[in-house]
Amino acid sequence: MKVKIDKEKCFMSGECYYNHPELFKMDDDGHPVVLVDDVADAALRLHAKEAAEVCPAVAISLED
Ligand code: SF4
Repeated sequence: MKVKIDKEKCFMSGECYYNHPELFKMDDDGHPVVLVDDVADAALRLHAKEAAEVCPAVAISLED
């Protein structure tokens, strides 16, 4: 599963990297970046789905 962030939509609220530092981190400019290239682990896939669901900007998308 690929996790993507639409930087046009993201308004840097920070939920993704605060709640799921195993998947996201903040770069030097405060933008979120995805740490895992291809999410295969079942637990991590659930975390990615949760992050996409709670993102207030609906900026996180998942691709299988
Ligand atoms: S939760 Fe959504 S809006 Fe907030 S930083 Fe992450 S991608 Fe951006």
